[in-house]
Amino acid sequence: MGATPVPLIKPRVEINPSPKRRRFGKTFGTIDPRTGEETARIAEGDKEDVDLAVKAARDAFDHGPWPRLPGSARRRIMMKYADLIEENKEELAALDTIDAGKLFSWGKAVDIPVVAEMLRYYAGAADKIHGETLKMSRELQGYTLREPVGIVGHIIPWNFPSSMFFMKVAPALAAGCTMIVKPAEQTPLSALRYAHLAKLAGIPDGVINVITGFGPTAGAAIASHMDIDKISFTGSTEVGRLVMVAAAKSNLKAVSLELGGKSPVIIFDDADVDKAADLALLGIMYNKGEVCVAGSRVFVQEGIYDEIVKKLEEKAKTWAVGDPFNPTVRHGPQVDKTQFERILSYIEHGKREGATLLTGGKPCGQKGYYIEPTIFTDVKDNMVIAKEEIFGPVMSLMKFKTVEEAIERANATRYGLAAGIVTNDLNLANTVSRSIRAGVIWINCYFAFDMDCPYGGFKMSGFGRDLGVDALDKYLQVKSVVTPIYNSPW
Ligand code: ADP
Repeated sequence: MGATPVPLIKPRVEINPSPKRRRFGKTFGTIDPRTGEETARIAEGDKEDVDLAVKAARDAFDHGPWPRLPGSARRRIMMKYADLIEENKEELAALDTIDAGKLFSWGKAVDIPVVAEMLRYYAGAADKIHGETLKMSRELQGYTLREPVGIVGHIIPWNFPSSMFFMKVAPALAAGCTMIVKPAEQTPLSALRYAHLAKLAGIPDGVINVITGFGPTAGAAIASHMDIDKISFTGSTEVGRLVMVAAAKSNLKAVSLELGGKSPVIIFDDADVDKAADLALLGIMYNKGEVCVAGSRVFVQEGIYDEIVKKLEEKAKTWAVGDPFNPTVRHGPQVDKTQFERILSYIEHGKREGATLLTGGKPCGQKGYYIEPTIFTDVKDNMVIAKEEIFGPVMSLMKFKTVEEAIERANATRYGLAAGIVTNDLNLANTVSRSIRAGVIWINCYFAFDMDCPYGGFKMSGFGRDLGVDALDKYLQVKSVVTPIYNSPW
């Protein structure tokens, strides 16, 4: 912890009522992971609040202007929303740092401007949503309309509070939907500010309804609501399953799920050792490992294995851990006590199972939820740390001999979110990328996200795609309209 403590940045808006003002109902505390102390009291929404929000969203969908506006009008409002976000990027980044322990400088320079761009990307699509003219086999003419799916329930996780919010909200807005958004209970602050900015941008009341609260209450009420048409969920595989069951048991609402991962990074013998080590380290340590696509299983071909181990050890030691407001820090605290303890228990498990601790393995700092960047070597495929999603800064390093072996072991997981391949051999990269069952393959890079690049899982990592033009489809229904060409007796 070489970091200088930086005073808490106080949000400029009054987000929560004081706990004494009980007329606002139940509240819960949101915790600053740098200290473990409470930052603010937040309204604790439950089923009743979800019902009210759905009523507002239904009214806005059935009678309000948003779904009926020409796409160009939605585009203009979304562009204004994007500008307001960009103008407030410092404050928004600070809210995510206080709530999730995310790097402030990165948030201000990347996360928040990217969120504004995401809105602009989908704003540009809002007036280009159209169906097809059908070539029918009889004397009929027909065309399809692509209509908004209706009311969407977005249930989002805590690791990227801003990006997740807009990955879901931006395409749904462009499609003309109205929506309920439930941020994770760990990170409600920026979502509340986004709701406020939506109003300032001119998004009509009832279009974006943010409900803060807990998963088993507010989240479950959304998943099982009879008047929500679609759920877009990002979170753990366990909760994704609950959401899908609740959707099936209620009104059979459409569901898309972006779930957990245990993504492989495969480094071949011909790779540049220094660059490959940087890539692998970034792949697992970025955002302190709290990333569903984190490259948590690193397979290294035997010819360069020892060199990679040495490099990783050197580099991990320079990975600065500390206060995420400090611009020289690369690694802030884990999001909360539960995650912190969970990660440490996985580390203990790894040691007990016989993996060798190369670096890290301990908490650090006097307070807060900081964990050292941790690397295990001698990891076997059947060890718990190689199979389960840890969602923390813990790399499992494994050696392989042949290409076939690498593919087989990389695929030997119930997940299929992402994979990294490091090689200069184009044929090899192409062959391996076609053989890995995952939604995104990064060749000689990692986390190379782009708005235009659809993103989602295979296998138990879920289904449906966020980002890209594909994401619009999640929020649209296809309707066929047919008329006879002649005055025939249909
Ligand atoms: P993580 O393991 O990353 O915390 P979760 O899957 O627990 O992810 O949480 C992701 C989101 O799902 C959060 O907004 C959380 O409140 C919500 N959630 C948790 N449990 C449920 C549930 N039973 N039904 C609906 N949503 C839930």
